[in-house]
Parts: sequence; structure tokens; C-alpha cells
Amino acid sequence: MSSTAATLAPPEVLARYEAVIGLEVHVQLATRTKIFCGCPTSFGAPPNTNVCPVCLGLPGALPVLNRRAVEMAVKAALALNCTVRPVSRLARKNYFYPDLPKGYQISQYDEPLAEGGWVEIFVNGTRKRIGVTRVHIEDDAGKSLHEGFEDSDRYTYVDLNRCGTPLIEIVSEPDLRSSEEAYAYLTELKLLMQYIEVSTCDMEKGHLRCDANVSVRPRGAETFGTKTEVKNLNSFRFLKAALDYEIARQVAILENGGAIVQETRLYNPDTGETMGMRTKEYAHDYRYFPEPDLLPLRISEEWRERIRAEMPELPSQKRARFVEQYGLREYDAQVLTLSRDLSDYFERAAAVSGDPRGTANWVMGDLLGALKAEGKEIPESPVSAEQLGELVALISRGEISGKLAKEIFAKMWATGDSARTIMEREGLRQISDAALIEKIIEEVLAANPKQVESYRSGKSGVLGFLVGQVMKATRGQANPALVNELLRKKLG
Ligand code: ADP
Ligand code: ZN
Ligand code: MG
Repeated sequence: MSSTAATLAPPEVLARYEAVIGLEVHVQLATRTKIFCGCPTSFGAPPNTNVCPVCLGLPGALPVLNRRAVEMAVKAALALNCTVRPVSRLARKNYFYPDLPKGYQISQYDEPLAEGGWVEIFVNGTRKRIGVTRVHIEDDAGKSLHEGFEDSDRYTYVDLNRCGTPLIEIVSEPDLRSSEEAYAYLTELKLLMQYIEVSTCDMEKGHLRCDANVSVRPRGAETFGTKTEVKNLNSFRFLKAALDYEIARQVAILENGGAIVQETRLYNPDTGETMGMRTKEYAHDYRYFPEPDLLPLRISEEWRERIRAEMPELPSQKRARFVEQYGLREYDAQVLTLSRDLSDYFERAAAVSGDPRGTANWVMGDLLGALKAEGKEIPESPVSAEQLGELVALISRGEISGKLAKEIFAKMWATGDSARTIMEREGLRQISDAALIEKIIEEVLAANPKQVESYRSGKSGVLGFLVGQVMKATRGQANPALVNELLRKKLG
């Protein structure tokens, strides 16, 4: 396929327009077995081995709804603040595709599982609620694998292992106004689904997939423009890049007096462009009808409330609590709740240190930095939460300086030993012996007569240099507050 090299609007023109975006997100539910049969959902099995007559759509085979999948879908809907319907209905969505042996997907149409929810996002320092139109359940199709480039040597293989894997589709209202907001929304959805353990959201395995609907309108306009739908956005980076491209393409067309064609477009990560794939299909193209092989899905109040009661603290609730209980800044609370592992680590460390803000700084700075440098995740950290808490406690009690703490942290990281063990082994205790410090100060002053003179002639800024010299002479072990005090006294 050749590049279309569409004209893109420059920034000053873009600034006169506003984007309107709604996302349709598919999340693979983390059940062990498929949604209508007992086949395993495991990833990476040899092609066409995790299949049976039901998920292959063989004539006469009947589906049986997986109770666990429904529970997970309800849990997701509740976490998205949706209203769960007491009775919803499964529906056939008919279309032909080589990786869809049944000839239809079992989905939900006009009576979806849940509706009317919202997700809170945090962009550029402000909070915003994004409406969730609906959450419905459906089964996944198989996978087509394309191989070869020459016409004479091109094959497509079909692997049906994924057929019948349980999905939920989460449809947002057209409430997003920029690619940054879309990125933040998808981030929050992923975090939520992981927190409540209904999905791993592993994008590389296709557990989280996203289609973006986007239109543009002049700033201040009330009505929406014609939208296009962009498919194949299998990473956060691609979502943002595809939206930015598509917005600039649409604005350029409108600026030139053209009209947007409502169509489905495909994002090409190699060129960074979107390309027309097919004209849009409408609901009536799918000939939806109620699934005759399955009963209506009834969710009693009692069942729904049982699921709600199992809900863990959600990321937004945790963020609010971190600000309230620990006095953290909003931004820090946001970072520390980016995963359950991270927030648990922080809370365990803060419980030991008794200094939540100091702990937040150490977790977000030194700990995350060291983990990132080695490509490690929180559970693999050689420094445990309790050990980090102990280190922070030593700093906040004034037993060691921040500088010395960094040295000790590096050693804890390398050996897995506690701060105390390292300090004892290496004699790294903070020096708070005034007589000893005074002796070192005298040596430093004797070695720096020029600086002493300029301090006494009024250049008080030199004090920092002299403090630094004393700290250096003690390998950072002198108590900095005491050094300051004694130096001032000595200098008169
Ligand atoms: P369709 O009939 O094309 O399926 P829907 O109304 O069902 O359209 O919406 C599908 C998705 O597109 C939703 O996420 C919705 O928020 C979004 N959407 C609807 N209209 C627009 C628009 N004008 N611009 C951008 N997104 C839109
Ligand atoms: Zn099966
Ligand atoms: Mg629709």
C-alpha cells in the first residue's frame, strides 16, 4: 500500500479547532475458560488446539454462559459507575470473516449489560469526568496471520484458539477533547481493570484494544462534525499519534472547503498515518437479533451487591485517601497509585518510616529510578518496603544526612542488606560529636584563608562552600545542621 501523504493543518490553524473523541475499548476478561465453552483461554498454545464444537461454531453445538465472565463484567461495570440492567440480552451480530467460523459474534445490542457510567481523568492539573455510554459482553473472534510479501508466496493462516474468549466492550461518550485526554482515559481504564483484577490488560497479547472515533469542529461550535473511526491502535503511543494525525488531516480538509467522509480508517504505525479502509458500517448492516440459544441474562440485586461488596478500593478513591491521610500532593498521589504493587509498597514503607512525604519522595525518586534503570518491577525490588521505610526513618530522625542516605541506598540495592547492617559494617554513622566536628572545621578554615576572609568581609554566600568542605572531609557523615551552627560560631 502506498502512502496517501494527506495535507495536515499547521498548529496555528489547529488552534482554531477543537477535537471531539469517543473511544470503544475491548478488554479481555481474565477467566480461565472461554465464555460459552470449557476451552482454556491460555495464550500461546499451538494453533487450533484450544477449540471445541461450540467455539468452532459447528452445527448443533450449544453455548453455555460462563458465570465467572458475567461476574467480572458486572464488577467492571460497577467500577465504571454504570447502572447494571436486571435483565440484559445477548444478540447475534452477523458478518463474514475468515476468523469467525460461526458467521456471527455473540454480543449485546439494544439491551446491554450496563449503561450510564463515568471515569475520572486528571489532565494538566484538572479533573474531568468522561461519560461511559455502555458496557456489554461479547465473544472474541480468531486470528488471521499473514505471511510473505510476494503475490506468489503469500499465505494467510487462521488460528481459532482465541474464538470465544470473553470480552467486554466499554463505549465512551464523545467527551474527550484532545489526544492527551484520550490517552489519560485509556490509562485510567487500564488501571481500573487491573485494580479490580478482571483483566491483565496486556496490550502485547491484545488484552486491551482500542478504536477511536474522532471529529473536529471550530472552537465555540455547538454541533459535532462528521466522525471517522480509527482502528488498530494497539499501544498508547499509537493512540495518541493516530489521533493527532487524524485531527490535523480533518482540519486541513475543512479549511480547504472539503467535507469529512464518515469511514473506518486504519492506523499504520510504520508511516504514522491513517488510511481509509472501508466506508462505515451501520448497525443494520449486522442484522442483529436476539441470540436464540441463550436465555436473557438476569442479574439479581443480591448477586450484583455481592459483587460490589468484593470491590477493592479503586484508584480514584485511593488517590483521594493518600492526599487526605498522608498529606501528599495530588500529583504524588497520582503517581503512587499507578499500580497496586506501587501503592502497597508506599503504604508499607510509610508505616515503618512514620514520614509519608519523605517516603513518597524516596519511592518516586530513588526507588522508581533504580527499578527503571534495571528494567525491574516493584515485586523484584532488592530493597523491601520495610527496608526503605527504615532508611527514611533514619533521615527524618536526623541520624543520617540525605546524602549519606543515598550512598546507603545504593548499597542496600546492591546487597539486599538493611540500612542498619550497612551502617554498622561500614562505620557510616552520622557524626554528631561537636568536638570532633569543631576540629575538622578548624582544619578546613586553615586550608581556605581566602574564603574565610571574604565571608568576614560580608560575602555570606561563601558559607555554603565551607559547609561543603567539612561534609567532604567527613565523607558526608557530619550532621549538616550541626556543621552549619558550629561554622557560623567559629567565623564570628
Ligand atoms: P455509531 O453509530 O457510528 O456506532 P455511536 O453513536 O454508537 O456511533 O458512537 C460510537 C462512538 O463514537 C462512541 O464512543 C461515541 O462517543 C463516539 N462518537 C459519536 N459521535 C461522535 C462524533 N461526532 N465525534 C467523535 N466521536 C463520536
Ligand atoms: Zn471451545
Ligand atoms: Mg454504535
